[in-house]
Amino acid sequence: METLKRSLVDLPPAFLDALRDAVGQQAVLTGEEDREHYGHDETEDLRFPPQVVVRPRTTAEVAAVVKLCAQHHIPITPIGGRTGLSGGALSVHGGVGLALDRMDRIIAIDERNLQVTVEPGVITQVLHEAVAAKGLYYAPDPSSKGSCTIGGNLAENAGGPRAVKYGVTRDFVLNLEVVLPDGEVIWTGANTLKNSTGYDLTRLIVGSEGTLGIITQAVLRLVPLPKETRLMLVPFREAAKACEAVSAVFRAGVVPSALEFMERDAIDWTLRHVPNIAVPVADDTQAHLLIEVDGQHADTLVRDCETILQVMEAHGCQEVLFAETSAEKDALWRMRRQVPEAVKSNSIYKEEDTVVPRYELPRLLQGIKDIGARYGFKSVCYGHAGDGNLHVNIIKGDLSDEAWTNELPRAIREIFHLTVSLGGTLSGEHGIGLVQRPYMDIAFNAVQLDLMRGLKRLFDPLGILNPGKVLP
Ligand SMILES: Cc1cc2nc3c(=O)[nH]c(=O)nc-3n(C[C@H](O)[C@H](O)[C@H](O)COP(=O)(O)OP(=O)(O)OC[C@H]3O[C@@H](n4cnc5c(N)ncnc54)[C@H](O)[C@@H]3O)c2cc1C
Repeated sequence: METLKRSLVDLPPAFLDALRDAVGQQAVLTGEEDREHYGHDETEDLRFPPQVVVRPRTTAEVAAVVKLCAQHHIPITPIGGRTGLSGGALSVHGGVGLALDRMDRIIAIDERNLQVTVEPGVITQVLHEAVAAKGLYYAPDPSSKGSCTIGGNLAENAGGPRAVKYGVTRDFVLNLEVVLPDGEVIWTGANTLKNSTGYDLTRLIVGSEGTLGIITQAVLRLVPLPKETRLMLVPFREAAKACEAVSAVFRAGVVPSALEFMERDAIDWTLRHVPNIAVPVADDTQAHLLIEVDGQHADTLVRDCETILQVMEAHGCQEVLFAETSAEKDALWRMRRQVPEAVKSNSIYKEEDTVVPRYELPRLLQGIKDIGARYGFKSVCYGHAGDGNLHVNIIKGDLSDEAWTNELPRAIREIFHLTVSLGGTLSGEHGIGLVQRPYMDIAFNAVQLDLMRGLKRLFDPLGILNPGKVLP
């Protein structure tokens, strides 16, 4: 694991005492093991332990901690499930790591209005299961759903496979309770489906990566749980053809509930990594699409599948595998969800979260391979192709340390320039955080960046909330 040099603030004993008074002795952790635990997420091998971890239970406690930090000019970094892939939850300037894991109550499920009110520390899958028990559906489903939290999902505007039909986290948020960097507590909007009242603070806070405020409660939208799903795995001899088929599905009039792309290596490495999943892969297969449709009526889904099949065949697919039972569906989804871990377990890597308009996907993939050929790196690509969102895993493999450190950033800049030239941008769902910050000038000009810096100053004039993130 890597630790970068950084200057830390002094934590006066009076400050630590005041923290203990605010949240209780047990909720203030200064031991090395605890600080290490909260000092890393899933971003490469980076680790930045906070100087003190604070685990509040209520909004009032969060507000009290933030007021103390403002008074003493101590940096404060919100921490969710620590599954982030851009380093947003890392305490790069030390100070307080504000772990929201104890604020994990589902406060109310309002079945009449199809809404749920939650605290930020609720694990996403726990919310899925709680609302499903009432026949309801919270659609955003990052592949990390078993360990990420709603607070982290809101802060990153997380997506996941089902965003292609239902939208990303932002599309499911009605109203947020937020503790501002001076300790004031606000609600951002109203619990309504429509709202044209003033500036939209709710949408501003979602995706702000813990740099503008700390989310302490969220009112989220629900939809009826789909009763039926159909799932198919479609192999292709050419990855480009698989990418071309993606946009053709939508033009044929079907909106799948998931449309995932996986390169050959992604599947091979996953099948080696995950026990008890047997998926036949022909020697000449170069890529797969995993396609799901969902809805309330089986006959509609049968028609959708027929249309999808025609599109796939027109793009030269190989033999399609339909998951017939729920065990087969689970196995295919388990395989897909394990891809990130399997790919990362193979080598030192860097992951980019490129996104383009979906018709441009074939050009994005080809361009990435061309850049890789010039710089001498291998990449394994997979992702939420239906959204034009391709995760590019750059594998260190035999690349020299010198090339990895000095040349790779130039290659990554080329990848992002390509992405932007295709009408896309730097991140579809993982956020900018710490690691993509140096590339923000590719997506935004000085005027746009100054506007964002102005917003940050307005919310956080002392610059204490999650410093060192997002803005270059
Ligand atoms: C195997 C794997 C698969 C993944 N798949 C997906 C995927 O399909 N789609 C996707 O979008 N992402 C995916 N991710 C990335 C990651 O899971 C998401 O970004 C997730 O939203 C992070 O949530 P978290 O609770 O772990 O947040 P953390 O990593 O702890 O924090 C993320 C950011 O949120 C901020 N934050 C946390 N809580 C709050 C709060 N209450 N108020 C304000 N700011 C807060 C932190 O400061 C940080 O900036 C994946 C990650 C892994 C490891």
